[in-house]
Amino acid sequence: MNPSAPAIALRGHHLLCVLTFCGHGYTPAFTANMAHIVAVLGSGATVRIVAGADALCAPLTPDCGVEVHCARADVAARDRRALAVAGAALGRRLKAGDSLRFDAATLATLRAAFADGRLRAACTACPWADFCTATAAAGFAGARLRAEPDGDGPDKTVHEPTYSLEHDTPDADS
Ligand code: SF4
Repeated sequence: MNPSAPAIALRGHHLLCVLTFCGHGYTPAFTANMAHIVAVLGSGATVRIVAGADALCAPLTPDCGVEVHCARADVAARDRRALAVAGAALGRRLKAGDSLRFDAATLATLRAAFADGRLRAACTACPWADFCTATAAAGFAGARLRAEPDGDGPDKTVHEPTYSLEHDTPDADS
């Protein structure tokens, strides 16, 4: 990964959503953008934690055809819960302005915590919860985010989404 590349802005609960992303999303534009960002994260990009709308929210414009929930208070509360539980799993306090990378150790730690339920307090009331539970139960086999293998150099492959050009779950709240 180019060390001078700009950091990817992610809000708190999206630190969890990228763990289970399998190529589904609100709209084709949202899903394509998320697939690209997940590929970039897997190549070693730095995440900068932000409060509020982030790089994944960007395609959710007022005319995108689904409810734009990015500024809702309950979504901000989900961010706070996510930062608390992810920070606990990683042994550090996470807050807006902090940076992290999804290296192999971080990814394994967060996915283990997701699978055993330690991160799921952040997922309360999310319509994607059953999907993400199933993804974790399957060992994240279908999940796109893969940490860069040690010593193999950056994997800059951008995986194209496999969804159909229709909304997968237009009323979901991630
Ligand atoms: S259940 Fe919702 S908030 Fe939790 S990881 Fe899945 S999409 Fe993200």
